[in-house]
Amino acid sequence: TTPGDCPADVETLGRSSWTLLHTIAATYPTSPSPSEQSDLKSFIKLFSKLYPCWVCAEDFQHYIKKQDVRTDNRQAFGTWLCEAHNEVNRKLGKPIFDCSKWEERWRTGWKDGRCD
Ligand code: FAD
Repeated sequence: TTPGDCPADVETLGRSSWTLLHTIAATYPTSPSPSEQSDLKSFIKLFSKLYPCWVCAEDFQHYIKKQDVRTDNRQAFGTWLCEAHNEVNRKLGKPIFDCSKWEERWRTGWKDGRCD
């Protein structure tokens, strides 16, 4: 890191946060128990309140109200999260990610060995 890298700006915070969230999806059970499901729901809800970029947090809370968090299993949550991330991509004019590929990006690794 260089001196200009701290404290984290909205971009660095965002990249790190998406890494945490998608990695939680990647390690979420394929058959979660009711308590694992309710923990994940609570986590996402609290995350959306505490996220330290207030505009981002507000929009994310609105999104969660429109699109209920899907915690039934890994695939459902991973896809929900990918769609939530795409909503932010759309807002920021970034490329839309193909959600059929979220597991390759965040769990198994790309078939060609890339990691971006
Ligand atoms: P990021 O968007 O951080 O993505 C990191 C990597 O994730 C990409 O390189 C790609 O490999 C992968 N990826 C991209 N899209 C998807 C997807 N749909 N599913 C799975 N993987 C994907 N910034 C703002 O300026 N305004 C906001 O309102 C705002 N809201 C945010 C809300 C939340 C909840 C979070 C976590 C972040 C928010 N950000 C916001 C930050 C913003 O989303 C980016 O993280 C930041 O702009 C850095 O972008 P990036 O191009 O490095 O890639």
